Amino acid sequence: MGRIAVIGAGMGAMAAAARLAVAGHRVAVYERTETYGGALRRFERDGFAFDTGPGLLPLPAVWRDLFVKTGKEPLEACVDLVQVDPAARHVFADGTDATLPNASRAGAVTALDEALGAGAGERWGDFLVRAREAWDRTRRPLLEEPLWSDWRVLAEREPYPSVPHKRLLRTRRAATLAEIGAWELRDPRLAALLESHALGYGLDPRTAPAAAAVLPYLDHAFGTWYVRGGMRELARAVHERCLARRVAFHFGAEVREVVEKDGRAAGLALADGTVVEADTVVGVAPWRLGVEAPGADAVGPVVEGGVPGRVVVCLALRGGRPAGTAHRTVVHAPDRAAELALFDGTPSERPTVRVDRPDDPALRPDDAHESVVLTATVPSGAHHDWSAPGAADAVADRMVAAAERAVPGLRERTLWREVRTPLETARETGAEFGGVPAPSLAASRGRLLHPANGTALPGLFGVGGWSHPGGGLPHAGMSGALVAGLIVEGPGFRGSQ
Ligand SMILES: Cc1cc2nc3c(=O)[nH]c(=O)nc-3n(C[C@H](O)[C@H](O)[C@H](O)COP(=O)(O)OP(=O)(O)OC[C@H]3O[C@@H](n4cnc5c(N)ncnc54)[C@H](O)[C@@H]3O)c2cc1C
Repeated sequence: MGRIAVIGAGMGAMAAAARLAVAGHRVAVYERTETYGGALRRFERDGFAFDTGPGLLPLPAVWRDLFVKTGKEPLEACVDLVQVDPAARHVFADGTDATLPNASRAGAVTALDEALGAGAGERWGDFLVRAREAWDRTRRPLLEEPLWSDWRVLAEREPYPSVPHKRLLRTRRAATLAEIGAWELRDPRLAALLESHALGYGLDPRTAPAAAAVLPYLDHAFGTWYVRGGMRELARAVHERCLARRVAFHFGAEVREVVEKDGRAAGLALADGTVVEADTVVGVAPWRLGVEAPGADAVGPVVEGGVPGRVVVCLALRGGRPAGTAHRTVVHAPDRAAELALFDGTPSERPTVRVDRPDDPALRPDDAHESVVLTATVPSGAHHDWSAPGAADAVADRMVAAAERAVPGLRERTLWREVRTPLETARETGAEFGGVPAPSLAASRGRLLHPANGTALPGLFGVGGWSHPGGGLPHAGMSGALVAGLIVEGPGFRGSQ
C-alpha cells in the first residue's frame, strides 16, 4: 500500500483517487478551492440553479465503469441519469429550424431531409458512417490506452476516410473539418451543424483535422445525457464515492510544488508551507508546478493561453418552460467568418450560442419560472481583457440577442442574469487564462494531442483535461482510469478493456 497525493479535486483527479483507493492505496487530495468538481459548478440564487460547466454528459459508460469498479452501487443508483431527447434543436443562419433525435441515425436523416431538403439527411448519414470509421480507428489509442511512445503514428495518419473530391482537375480529400463541410456535406447548414461540434469544444473548424469527425459521432452513437438536479450531481456522486473509499480531502490547500527526492516525486509542498510526503503524486497539469517538461520525443504541454474559454450566461426567467421545449438548442452564427475571428482573439459580434433549458424542477423556484444557460466559445484571458469594465456584459448582450432567435421574448422574461467569463474558469479550475481543454484528436501532426499521463519525473502522473486523453467529461474520466492503471499495474499497463 502506497501513499498517494493528488493535486486538485477535478473530475479526472477524483476518478483516479477513487480507483487508487480501491486498489488499496492511501489517497489524499489537496484542492486549492473550497469545493470539489473543478469546472462542474453550480450557481444558485433566489431558488434558481444553473450548471456553469458542461450542460450534458456524453459517453456515460466512462462514469458507469468507475462506479462498477469502485463499489457496489452503480452510477444509476447514485444519480438520476436521463437521456436527452431530442438531442438538440438547431436554428441555422437562414432561419431553418431542425430538431434532431438522440442517438438515431434514421431519425436524424429524416429530420434533416424534412428541414433542409431531400438529400441533406443522406449526406449527413453517410458522413456519420465515415466518422464511425475514424472513431473505430482511434477509440483505443485516443481514449482507452495510455499515450503510446510511438504516438507519431497517431499524429501523422488521418483516420477519417474522406471522399475523393475533384477540384480544378485535381482530386483532393478533406483534411480539415471545414473541408468535410464544404466538399462532402455541401450545404452551409450541414457544415454549420458539423462545425458547431468543434466550436463547442473550442476548436477552429478551419484547422481542426478531419479526425474531429469523431466529436459529432460520439454524441450521435452514444447519445447525450443529463443528470437530474444539475450536472454537478455527478461531481457530488464521485466525491461521495471517494469518501466511501476513504479518500481524504483537504480543501483550501493550494499545491505550489512537487517535492523531488532521489530523482522521483516524493510529495507536495503547499502554499501554507506544509510539506506532504508521498510515494506517488497525481496532479492536474503538473508542469505548471515547475516540473521539467517531458523530453523532445514526448508530446509537450498545450500552450494554455491559446486555448479558447467560454462565456456562460445564467438567466433567471419569469414564466414557465413551455411543454415540448428542447433541452438544448444551438443558435448558429449568421456570419461564419466573423464568428471565427474569435480564434484571432476577438469575441464574435454574433456568436454561435448554446441554449440549455433542462426540464428540471430542481433548477427553478416553481413552475412559473425557468432557468436557462447560454454558452459561447470565446478567446481566453490571454487574448481578451475580461476584467475590463463592460467586457463581460457586452458579450452577454450579444449572446442574449442571438438566443432570442430561438426563445422569443427572452429579454422581457429576464428577472436577472449572472455572467461568467474565463476569469471564473481560471478561478475555479486553475487553468491559465481560463481556457477549456479540448479532447485529444489524431492527425494534425500531434498538435491536438495532450501529454502522456506518465511524466519525465518517475512517480509523477498527469490527470484531467490538460493530460492525455484531453478535455471533456468522458475524457477526464478516462484519464483517471489510465493513471490508476499505470500506478497499479506499472508502465506495462495497456489500457482498460
Ligand atoms: C465553462 C465550461 C464549459 C464546459 N463545457 C463542457 C462541455 O460542454 N462538455 C464537456 O465534455 N466538457 C466541458 N467542459 C470541460 C469539462 O468540465 C472538464 O474537462 C472536466 O470537468 C474535467 O476536468 P478536470 O479533471 O481537467 O479538472 P478541472 O475541472 O480542470 O479542475 C481542476 C481542479 O484542480 C484544482 N487545482 C488546480 N491546480 C491546483 C493546485 N496547484 N493545487 C490544488 N488544486 C489545484 C482546481 O482548483 C480544480 O478544482 C467545460 C468546462 C468549462 C469551464
